[in-house]
Amino acid sequence: MAEDVLEIVLATRNRHKLLEFKRLLTRLWVRWLRLTDLRIDAEVAENGVTFAQNAAQKAREYCRLSGLPTLADDSGLTVDALGGRPGVHSARYGGPGATQAAQWQQLLREMRAVPWGQRGAQFRCALALARPGHPELLTAQGVCHGMIALQPRGTGGFGYDPLFYLPECGVTMAELTPEQKDRISHRGRAARAIAPQIAALLARES
Ligand code: IMP
Repeated sequence: MAEDVLEIVLATRNRHKLLEFKRLLTRLWVRWLRLTDLRIDAEVAENGVTFAQNAAQKAREYCRLSGLPTLADDSGLTVDALGGRPGVHSARYGGPGATQAAQWQQLLREMRAVPWGQRGAQFRCALALARPGHPELLTAQGVCHGMIALQPRGTGGFGYDPLFYLPECGVTMAELTPEQKDRISHRGRAARAIAPQIAALLARES
């Protein structure tokens, strides 16, 4: 480790999330490492019933495997008319190996009879940072409120962004610039909530 730069593992294999975190947490005096940099291939089961449980599980396990402080994210889409589904199953919605387009079609099918006023939805993100030798975690959560659009629109972002309509902006999440997404997204909010906790840690350890 270079002097006075803390190394933290970013425990996600999702390249879109990695890019977002690089933008969101860039001001911290931290060297961010990817699982691939450490040649860690293990997959941690995501069998928690909440985003927070899954984030904690991933942070603890990848911290154990890497021996380094580890930040994990668990995130997804909760839809009011579907009783909060797909929720923690967002990545696996539509069955094993379903493409993104197949997931959009499945969501639009399930929402076909739901009128515009009842299409409320949230993107949710839970973050957990685990450190070797410390049983307690640093945690943060972020929520972004929107609606499920009638059809996909926009080419930015990833995942369900083209179906996530933001009434106050009049566009979907996929029509925002990366910087605009960061300002309002669930991940942006969670990152801004955990950043001061990481900064305090750096100050204590320097
Ligand atoms: P996981 O956190 O790896 O379990 O995956 C979360 C899933 O939720 C992703 O595969 C996406 O489908 C969805 N998701 C999470 N964050 C976003 C986002 O910012 N935009 C669009 N979809 C997202």
